[in-house]
Amino acid sequence: LEVTGAPIFSEGRKWKGVVLVFHDISELKHLEQMRKDFVANVSHELKTPITSIRGFSETLLDGAMKDEQMLEQFLQIILKESGRLQSLIQDLLELSKLEREDFLLNIEKVDVQRLLHDLLPIVEQHAEQKGVQLQASVEGETIIRGDSSRLKQVFMNLLANAINYSRDHGDVSLTFREKEETVMISISDNGVGIPEDEVPRIFERFYRVDKARSRNSGGTGLGLAIVKHIVEAHHGNIHVESVVDQGTTFHVEIPKKFTEN
Ligand code: ADP
Repeated sequence: LEVTGAPIFSEGRKWKGVVLVFHDISELKHLEQMRKDFVANVSHELKTPITSIRGFSETLLDGAMKDEQMLEQFLQIILKESGRLQSLIQDLLELSKLEREDFLLNIEKVDVQRLLHDLLPIVEQHAEQKGVQLQASVEGETIIRGDSSRLKQVFMNLLANAINYSRDHGDVSLTFREKEETVMISISDNGVGIPEDEVPRIFERFYRVDKARSRNSGGTGLGLAIVKHIVEAHHGNIHVESVVDQGTTFHVEIPKKFTEN
């Protein structure tokens, strides 16, 4: 709480009273704290792969590269860690674009089922590597107004998560439903699930239930923050049902007509 005050005088310069202004700055303080946390998180996320890239390069230069097996193994690590840096920077740039006040969607006619259908071959390989069965029921044609490349990003992220947080030989399904004014796309997995008290937090930047699992699968911790931004920019909503050790479903609902703000 910030307080400023000023005396009031009546005619004849007689002191009459005082005005006190109470300013609630808790919201500002909160925003400032969030900004600080974000900078700290980004720095930490950047530092980890850089430390590893430096460490392995130095070890190689100190002589380890004479051993061919080590050379290959360390170069693989360096490649993986630099890939991680690249994804992180890409996601950060994307988030900062989405958060700009003058950010606009590129609204056009989108056939949602075709869009979903076209994503399947892209995630299929990822699913196969994990031995995950991917099932999709997206036949038909439903035209809505939206930003097709941003909507693709939403479903790619959710499908990638469903596969990453599946158990080996799990099942992932993608379903489409048309409602009167909206379309509803659901992505389900029978994987690790999310503890109930952590569900509201998974859309926060860098929040992860299991840090090691997320990093191992190449996750940046920013995917769902990006997803939520895009869905809300379409005036849609996203909600999660999850049971630990049983699985998770993300439902995304998007209005068919796009309304300008
Ligand atoms: P990440 O890059 O870590 O996957 P996200 O923002 O996409 O970042 O997701 C945040 C966290 O939410 C993940 O680290 C994971 O703990 C949890 N999560 C997301 N999707 C799922 C899912 N389908 N099943 C279980 N947990 C999930």
